This record gives sequence, structure tokens and C-alpha cells, in this order.
Amino acid sequence: MGRKGTRARRKTTARGPAPKRAVPLARIGIVATGVVVAALAIWMATRLAGRSESSRVNILLVTIDTLRWDHVGAYGDGRAATPVLDSLARRGAKFETAVAHVALTAPSHASMLTGLIPPRHGVRDNGAFALPANLPTLASRFAQAGYDTAAFVSGFPLDRRFGFSTGFAVYDDWLPRGPGAGSRAYVERRADDTTTRVLGWLDGRAQSNRDPGSVRPWFLWVHYFDPHAAYEPPPEFAARFPDRPYDGEIAFVDAQLGRLVQRLERGGDLARTIVLATADHGESLGEHGEQTHGIFVYDATLRVPFIVAGPGISAGITPRVVARGVDVMPTLLDLAGIRIDAGLDGRSLRPALGGQSMPDASVYLEGLVAERHLGWAPLYGVRTSGWKYIDAPTRELYDLSADAAEVRNRIDDHRDRADKFSAALSVALKSAPVIPPASAEATGGKAVRPDSEAAARLRSLGYLSGSGQNKSAVKRDPKDGIQLINTLETGIALSSTDPARAVALLQSVLREDPRIELARRNLAIALVAQSKHPEAIEAVNGLRSDGSATAEDLVLLGESLRVVGRAKEAEQALTDAAALDPRSPEPALTLARSFMARNQPAEAAAAYRRALEIVPEHPEALAGLGEAALAQNDLAGASAWFERTLARDPQDLKAGFRLAVVRARQGRTADALPLFQWVVDREPAHGDALAGLAAALAKSGRPAEAIRYFERAINAGARSTAVLNGLGLARLESGDAAGALTAFQMSIKERPDQPEIARLVRDLSARRRP
Ligand SMILES: [Zn+2]
Repeated sequence: MGRKGTRARRKTTARGPAPKRAVPLARIGIVATGVVVAALAIWMATRLAGRSESSRVNILLVTIDTLRWDHVGAYGDGRAATPVLDSLARRGAKFETAVAHVALTAPSHASMLTGLIPPRHGVRDNGAFALPANLPTLASRFAQAGYDTAAFVSGFPLDRRFGFSTGFAVYDDWLPRGPGAGSRAYVERRADDTTTRVLGWLDGRAQSNRDPGSVRPWFLWVHYFDPHAAYEPPPEFAARFPDRPYDGEIAFVDAQLGRLVQRLERGGDLARTIVLATADHGESLGEHGEQTHGIFVYDATLRVPFIVAGPGISAGITPRVVARGVDVMPTLLDLAGIRIDAGLDGRSLRPALGGQSMPDASVYLEGLVAERHLGWAPLYGVRTSGWKYIDAPTRELYDLSADAAEVRNRIDDHRDRADKFSAALSVALKSAPVIPPASAEATGGKAVRPDSEAAARLRSLGYLSGSGQNKSAVKRDPKDGIQLINTLETGIALSSTDPARAVALLQSVLREDPRIELARRNLAIALVAQSKHPEAIEAVNGLRSDGSATAEDLVLLGESLRVVGRAKEAEQALTDAAALDPRSPEPALTLARSFMARNQPAEAAAAYRRALEIVPEHPEALAGLGEAALAQNDLAGASAWFERTLARDPQDLKAGFRLAVVRARQGRTADALPLFQWVVDREPAHGDALAGLAAALAKSGRPAEAIRYFERAINAGARSTAVLNGLGLARLESGDAAGALTAFQMSIKERPDQPEIARLVRDLSARRRP
């Protein structure tokens, strides 16, 4: 109160007497005039800056995982259902050729977000590397420029533990769990769920920014994962694309992107938003013998759509210059008027977006999956608009203008050209600086292994500088073993869903090459899925004694050890897993589940808290703390944890139900009732919620309504003596004595030892007799 008064007084004083400079400007000498002009210039500059602050463009980066360029309508696929992408292309620019550097989610996104090729940003694989925290990213640059930053990602390779959250104020990477108790987290989130989260963020922003003058521009990155294998579009899209489920997934994502674009249009944001829609890589769909992506560096998996629309971008143009993953960062910064860092591998494509022609820039390509996971040869390549060179034990050169499918190797006709490409590739790899030194600490533990990476790079350089004669040449060429890779991939894909077939496939791979860790690791997963825990333990211990067990392997080991009753060893395995990968919450969560299963809620709570330290507001940890509190009869604590779980995700039905149960147990019937009702509205066959709702209604003096829900609970399978007795009492209270008698009789039949109910049955039966 006092402070407010002071401020008001000061304001009055400032506005008080007329300023001294009531002297006409003309009477002031030339020097003074200069001062006024300078002051005026500063005033104008501030005003203009203020004006440009509110008129700065928003930036929306949409990356659609695994989207082949030629499965988009705008790129000529007449059978595609991608009206939203097509309309963006009509409103803006569609680059005829856009190329990713690597056909893997994490490394490719890292290039888009840093403007650097993989040897320079250091992320060479999914799940094994973290983007160095001190590397400037698109998000950190936008944040520094005063933008609100948010990311909504839908696939595990982009989990925050891999460093992609740097610079984002909001990084929404939570993936839902599979159906069934204790099921693992999905590796993906569906496009509708992700879009709903994005819309929630936009709505929240709109509500907290009622004054349009104070609205900060935003940089928003939305990543959709659906087109990634397995191709399982939602039923409506599965029906529309019965023979092309991959295209069904793409159509579904496009429709969800449509929800987002519509929201921006309705809110008046679209006109001042630059949208860049692209993909991290394509999908081979059998071309070159490859089923999915990741192994080869052909256009089937590296060519992507690249569409930019928004203010200042010419409509309906098709720039011919090749767009690259590394160009995303400089282009978006340039379009937002933010200075581009020196030393990036990418360049701004802004001239092309204004309709100007730009000189070609070559694209660095790599495919290290076969090397990293199978010990085969690495693939490196260079692509220009007309040619592609691939450095492999059997070198390849394609004339793309005549052979877009890359099926005629022209290496023997153009050795000089190939050698030039090879030399350029060596330079690109040699010039790659090592990851900034502080990153080892920032990324922690096993996530990045700069030493072995440096060694790998040196090996690669040795190989690349040679002409196929050195010892690396004995490494297997991935194109000679693609069938084995496909078998391995199928085995991995089936390890949880069809473990018997997976075991057979993986064992056949291991017969051909017993060293392949990926096969051994997934064999263990398939064995767990078959409940063959002793064999799974043996498989992981094999990896462990070779020094190649990952934190995930140890988590699996911990689970199997727990199941077979070796609790102490399980704990040790999980502790080792936590030490191996301190950024993963999984070891702590698994440990917590193990304690809960052994009815040790206090120990479980401690483990859940550790998970929460690693991932703040981790929903399983929050809900687990609620369960642990409930198990210790700490109703207030349970209530607080479940409330926090719901605050984190207001759509979390399970947390809503648990909170309702806690409130009912606290005697807070009026608070429990609407929560039970909410769960039942969303999940009409949730038997326990139906029973809870019925009980709450009965307690609130609404027996007639309660009857309906007790009956529905029984139909939904929640038939228990408590529910039958509740139904009987509700019927009795609404005057239906005959109905009440039936319910009590059924209850007594299930459990005869209920003296109160037995007496009621006797009384009611007596009343019925004339
Ligand atoms: Zn991907």
C-alpha cells in the first residue's frame, strides 16, 4: 500500500511543473540543435525498436519424422492426402530438392538445430550421444533474442536426456505409457496428443498475455513421429489407406498439423508466423533392399520435403538450390532478423525464399549404423544437385540427373570426379573440430564418449584417405549385408510383440555373426517378453562381461533379477545402471517399481524422488509418490502428489481416478464426485470409477442416480460384495425393496459371512410375505 502511494506521488512530481525547455528550438544554437536531433534519433530508435518488438515474426519449425519427400502431394504424389502441407507450399516456397545429412532422428535433428554437420555437433547415433550443452542452438539463439521458446517432441530419440532441450523454456517430451499395468513407456506420442499439448501451450500463452503490446514473439518446434515404423495409423486413416499404412500415418500427421495451423489462423498469429516444415529423413520402403532407414545414404532415406511459408516469402515458388539440414538454423535466424553465428556449416536460404537464385552447396552425408552396431564399414558421402558419391568398401557414384533412383554405379566411368569428391570428404572430416571441452561434463556419463569418437573419426579418416587398399577395406560393406540387417531389424521390431519369432530371427543373425551386440541385446528383451528370465539374465551378463552392457541392458537385467527373486542383485544392477547413465530416470523408476511390488513404499518413495531429481515433474514419479503415500496411509501426501500429477497433465485419467479415491477416503465426497464423474465420462467402462461415482452419489443423498452407476459398474466387471451391497442400499433408499433384496441375496451368495447383510435379507424377505 505504502509503496504504491510513493510511486503515484513520484509520478505526479515528474509531471509537475512545466519543463524548462520552453525555449523555441529556433533560438537554440547549432550545437544545441545537434543535441536535440541526437535525442530525437534515440527516441525514434527506441520507439522503432519497441514497434519492431511487437511486430517480430513467430517461428514454427515442424519436423515430421521419416517423411519421404515424394509421399507429399505438393511434391507430386497424386495419391497423398497432405492438404495442409500442400497449402503451405502454395502459400510459400517448396524447395525442389532438400537433403538430410543422416537418416537417423537424433543426428539429423541435431544438424537442423545447430547448423552443423554430425562430425562437428558430435551426435552420431540415436540414444548414445547428447548434444553438448554449451553448443549454441536455434533455441538458445531465439531465447537470447527475447523469444519465448517451446518444443513438443514425439519420439524417444529426442528425449531431453540427449541434450535437445537446450534453449527451450518448455520442452515437452513426455511419451505416454502402453496399455496395461507396468507396461513400458511408448517410444512415441501420437500426433493428436502432441498437437493437443501444443494448443494448450498456445492457449496458456494467449491467456497470460492479454496486453497485445507485451506479447513476445515465439519460436516453437513441433516434432511428429507417426510415419516412423511400425505403420499403424488410427482406425479412420487405416480404413482410408488399407494398402498404404505409411501414407495413412502421413495423412494423419497432416490433419493434425492442420489443427495447429487453424489455431494460429483463428488467433490471428498465422499472418506473422514463418512456418518451416521438413523431415529428419525419409524411408527406404524396400529401395536398395533397405526396409526402413538408417543404414544407407541414398535419396530414398535422405531426400526430404522442405516447405517455408510466411511473411516476406514469395508464394508458390520452387527454389532449385538444394536445401540442407544445416541450413535450417541460419535460414530461420535470418528470417527473424537475428545475427547468424560465424562458423556454421549451413547458410541462410533467404535469397532463394525471395525468388533469387543461389549457387549450389554440397551436402555432407553419413551412415554409421552398420559400423557402430555391427562393426561393418561406415558410409560417408557427398551430394551435389547433380551427383552423389558414396565412400564405402565398394565406392559408388551416381549421376542424379539421369539416374534419380541411384541404381547405376558410374564409378568406373568417372574416377576423377569420384576422387575429387573423396578428397572433399576427407577435408570435411579433418576440419571437423572436436566437441567443446566443457561438454563432457555437461553431457555426463556414457551419453557422449568423445575419446572413442575421436578414435572412430581417426579410423574413418585413415580409411577415407586410402583408396580401398588399407585394412579397413576388409570391413563388410553394408550393401553386401542388407538382408542380414533386415532380419536383425525385423527381430528387433518383434522382440516385444512376437518374442518367439524374434528369438528365432535374432539367433539366426547371431549364427552368422555372434558378435553383433544389437542382436544379443534384443534377444534378451525377447526372452524377457517370453518370461524366460534366467536366459535373459544370462544374455545380459554376456554383454556385461564383454564390457558392452548399456544402462538399458542393466535395467532389463534388474527387472529379470527381481522377477526371479534375486532382489539384492537386482538393486545392484539398477544402481550400476544409474551410475552408467545418470541422466536416465529409468533405473530409479525400475527400482521404485520393484520396492512397490515388495510392499516397501518408503524405499519406493526415495527412488521416485531420485527420478524426479533427474526429470522434474516426471509423471510416473509423481504418480508413484502418490501411490507410495497411499500405501503408507498418508492421505494428505497422496492427495498432493496426485494433484501435482494432474497439474502436469490434466488429461491423466489414472491420476484423476487415484485422486478421486484419495478424496473419497478422506471423506471429501463433494470433491471426489466430480473427479469420478470426469473419469467415467472419458472412460465409460471404467468399473472402479463407476463404483466410486455410485458410492459418492449415494453418500450425497442421490440414491436414484447411484443405482444406475452401481449397475454399470457391475456390467463393467467391477462386481464385488461392496458394490452389490451399495446397490442394495441405494435401491432400498429409493423405495425398491424387491430390487434391494435381489442385490443383497447376490452379495450373500458371494460371501455368506456378512451378518448385517444377512439380517437385511431376512427382514426384506419377511416383509414380502403377505
Ligand atoms: Zn527420424
